Amino acid sequence: MTVITRFAPSPTGNLHVGNVRTALHNWLWARKHGGRFLLRIDDTDRERSKEDYVEAIRTDLAWLGLDVDGEERQSARFALYDEAFARLKAAGRVYACYETPEELDIRRKVLLSRGLPPVYERQPEGAPVPEGRAPHWRFRLDHDAPIAWTDLIRGPQHFEPKTLSDPVVRRADGSWLYLLPSVIDDIAMGISHVVRGEDHVSNTAAQIQMFAALGAEPPEFAHEALLVGTEGKLSKRLGALGMADWRAAGIEPIALAALLARLGTSDPVEPVTTLDPLIAGIDFARFGRAPARFDEGELALLNQKILHHTPYAAVAPRLPAAIDEARWIAIRPNLATVAEAADWVAVFDGPFAPPAPDAADRPVLAAAAAAAPAIDWSADPWHALTGAAKAATGAKGRALFLPLRRALTGRDHGPDMGELLPLIARDEAIARLSTA
Ligand code: GLU
Repeated sequence: MTVITRFAPSPTGNLHVGNVRTALHNWLWARKHGGRFLLRIDDTDRERSKEDYVEAIRTDLAWLGLDVDGEERQSARFALYDEAFARLKAAGRVYACYETPEELDIRRKVLLSRGLPPVYERQPEGAPVPEGRAPHWRFRLDHDAPIAWTDLIRGPQHFEPKTLSDPVVRRADGSWLYLLPSVIDDIAMGISHVVRGEDHVSNTAAQIQMFAALGAEPPEFAHEALLVGTEGKLSKRLGALGMADWRAAGIEPIALAALLARLGTSDPVEPVTTLDPLIAGIDFARFGRAPARFDEGELALLNQKILHHTPYAAVAPRLPAAIDEARWIAIRPNLATVAEAADWVAVFDGPFAPPAPDAADRPVLAAAAAAAPAIDWSADPWHALTGAAKAATGAKGRALFLPLRRALTGRDHGPDMGELLPLIARDEAIARLSTA
């Protein structure tokens, strides 16, 4: 079987972490099986769909490294839907309905007040057609065909068709609801696996009968537990944060992918630097049914961890020219974002004014300044410098290292000085020790 997955966003807004997680899982699954990953733009809603969002979706997928093997648009496929609709109508699987939303609402309330499930009640054959009302259309569920599938995440699923309402598939103005076009496309595009949120589970029940009514085998399904924020649900704020916001916050796409690939599974989140290990590791059987908690703090920490072993080549185009490979390797354990690398340029090359030292630290600095000109900078200048200052003043430990670190870098913490000092221009270093 050729694995073909699809990510099917409606272009009515920016992708948030929840959508991107679904896209990622579809992509990983296709790549793991040497299959194809399609982007299907679900733009049947002409009012709310915007071209800017389509463009943003493409940009976001590219930023994440999720290359697509094809792009389709539902708005270009209406002829196909009309044709399938005509077939289903001829077979009696879609039928005209005339109730207004108000009438349906009243029926629902009556049923509920009698303690009955609010399932749509079909009108008897030959019921009078209200005058001047255009019909909308429902799919007739086959009540004699119990619905079952083995979900790759949720396990065996069963639905009694009688407990479901015949879903509306087309509005009175001829526009399409999501359910039927999605099935028509999944068949036409040979989709082998539908991976989406568990909010679609009952849609899947109805759609399984649509596949059968259109003479096709249903694909495999994997319904993921929903993504929630640390407070319990995907908050408005988190839901509103798009990829551009994460990018602006200095989050690397691989950090987002590494987290979203593993959230909700029993596997640990790993600080990977490429998507390859995530491809190898995707396995729907590892996903649980409990909501997956997305923690922004965890993402920031993971981002930092990943930078610690991100190779120079992966970030070079985004670094200031002064940060070469050796400098990158020295500073990366201290960065929370790539952009922070710019803060180190002055530490390496100046201009840099060392902070005024505490009086107690002056002897160490004076001794280091006196010894520095004779030190071979190409060997191990830090060792030589601290050795000389220690011999001259008797200072050791923190009292020795901290004043030197401060004078040379302006900070109390930072990269290993043994690694850093040879990368600071010699004259610069000597000047800092002397003026401090
Ligand atoms: N456009 C639908 C959505 O965004 C697609 C669901 C599906 O994957 O079938 O919910």
